[in-house]
Amino acid sequence: MKHRVTLIPGDGIGPEVAGAAQACIDATGVSIEWSVHAAGEGAIPKFGSPLPEVVLDSIRRDRVALKGPITTPIGKGIRSVNVALRHALDLYACVRPAKLYPGVPAHYKKVDLVIIRENSEDLYAGIEYDDGTPEVKELIQWVRAHGGKAIRPDAAISLKPISATASERIVRFAFEYALTHGRRKVTAVHKANIMKFSDGLFLEVAQRVAAEYEGRVLFEDRLVDNLCMQLVQRPETFDLLVLPNLYGDIISDLCAGLIGGLGVAPGANIGEQAAVFEPVHGSAPKYQGQNKVNPVATILSGVLMLRHLKEDAAADRLERAVAEVLQEGRFVTYDLKTDRKDTSSVGTQEMAQAIINKLKKIPVPA
Ligand code: NAD
Repeated sequence: MKHRVTLIPGDGIGPEVAGAAQACIDATGVSIEWSVHAAGEGAIPKFGSPLPEVVLDSIRRDRVALKGPITTPIGKGIRSVNVALRHALDLYACVRPAKLYPGVPAHYKKVDLVIIRENSEDLYAGIEYDDGTPEVKELIQWVRAHGGKAIRPDAAISLKPISATASERIVRFAFEYALTHGRRKVTAVHKANIMKFSDGLFLEVAQRVAAEYEGRVLFEDRLVDNLCMQLVQRPETFDLLVLPNLYGDIISDLCAGLIGGLGVAPGANIGEQAAVFEPVHGSAPKYQGQNKVNPVATILSGVLMLRHLKEDAAADRLERAVAEVLQEGRFVTYDLKTDRKDTSSVGTQEMAQAIINKLKKIPVPA
């Protein structure tokens, strides 16, 4: 069966890693008709917008996309295209497996956990009021009038909405994912001791949903600060983490650090109507155009995409090819060398080619 997939190369290193992943996916023999669309900085000159409607329409039609990272300027300026895309398509569940492959330099022997991050609200909702504006002044007065604490007049304010609806949706997604992917335990992560209403609601909903899965999937909860320490000390004690948006973002990078870095950390954003697969890492502009960075995070995002397309045999072969190249450690990028100045490291394209060469030797199941 021929699949249709929207490909968004993205900014910075995006085109290099997305191109490498596309070549590896095509080498599996799965038939894919790619629609390539610019989003991010590259789309602005032609469309006047970093997220043109034509991109959203293409994903809505294909229902599946593979995406390179897109740059978000820090502070003032345009809001994140990545966040806008997740909101526009209601890709409410971010799935990020963190698996340590043999051969990858890391401080641990075994790490194999999955992060499920809520994608639609929390401090990522983009509800912010800049300092000195009439809106923020009004809000500060409103908070004081309604029994809240005094806020300094020169403050900027970001709101953190956490709803029962979105919490229930993501926690249920996490439990269903656990059941269908052979995961034994779900850990809900929060800071409900301090944010009693927002994180408190997330925890309360998680406990309620967990009760429905009692006897099938174990459940526990952790304060996010405590989780950070325990992840660093004993990552093998965790199986599947479900978190509100901001904690999910931060813990994703922490977990990438446990498994060898951002160069090997894949991800997926999933909704009812569409799914967008992308690496955890950003556009690393300082490495743009140097054929230097690791393509594996995007290739493994492609493996997740193939599984989503029910092309499990191709996904298994591609994952095995990646694992073999990682284990041999010969054709790997600089970030996978114990000494980062090791001159035997190869470039993005050479690593992708080594994966394709391995793939060709792995038999296609009859
Ligand atoms: P980044 O992930 O782009 O890079 C941080 C560092 O991680 C790099 O300097 C590099 O040392 C390492 N790294 C990242 N990807 C790598 C790879 N494939 N191989 C080897 N090393 C790799 O994070 P940043 O510098 O904070 O962000 C750069 C831009 O990317 C920002 O504009 C940010 O908003 C954006 N961003 C986009 C996404 C997305 O598109 N989903 C995600 C995160 C960040």
